[in-house]
Amino acid sequence: MNQVDILEQIAVEVNKCTKCPLHYSRKNGVPGEGPPGAQIMFIGEGPGFHENEQGRPFVGAAGRFLEELLATINLKRSEVFIGNVVKCRPPNNRDPQPEEIAACSPYLERQIQAIKPKVIVTLGRYSMNYFLPNVKIGDVHGQALKSKGRLIVSMYHPAAALHQRSLRPTIETDFAKLPDLINQAANMPEYSEAPIDENEQPKQLSMF
Ligand code: URA
Ligand code: SF4
Repeated sequence: MNQVDILEQIAVEVNKCTKCPLHYSRKNGVPGEGPPGAQIMFIGEGPGFHENEQGRPFVGAAGRFLEELLATINLKRSEVFIGNVVKCRPPNNRDPQPEEIAACSPYLERQIQAIKPKVIVTLGRYSMNYFLPNVKIGDVHGQALKSKGRLIVSMYHPAAALHQRSLRPTIETDFAKLPDLINQAANMPEYSEAPIDENEQPKQLSMF
């Protein structure tokens, strides 16, 4: 299967998935979207109301702010992959539970293996802790940590910056670092991934 087929197959599976209780609140699964050759993936928490209605990620207020942030570094949303750690909407936008994130993780892992991004930007702490289990967002936002041949860059969630105005300059400054980090990541050696092992322990991380 080529990359496009793999991503389409994942989207079909997500829309039929019953591996966690979030399928009860699903109107539309939100597998994520973006070009298969995307160098950069933005991973949020989970679909909200509008995403559940439309089956597309980041289409509400947080999504409009994300598009504005992308524009500040000359990127369009059509040039990046945008997804979430859980693909179905948690009821009333509650936090996703660890079991739900774990149940959904094979979809995200398969998306990452298909797209092979050089940079993954995590939006908010659920996404950050998926990739970097033991860090705090206040300590690592805007920094790049190397994991499995790619850079993981943690950002505050755009919705948090909309609710808390003081975070806005922080997230803007963190975004401004991305072009340089993307260039650095492009020069990193290829990393060949082992097949997905759902029992794999997170690898030791090194500061980039
Ligand atoms: N917030 C998220 O984390 N993901 C979305 O898709 C939309 C809002
Ligand atoms: Fe399946 Fe993920 Fe939806 Fe849970 S959130 S039902 S694991 S697709």
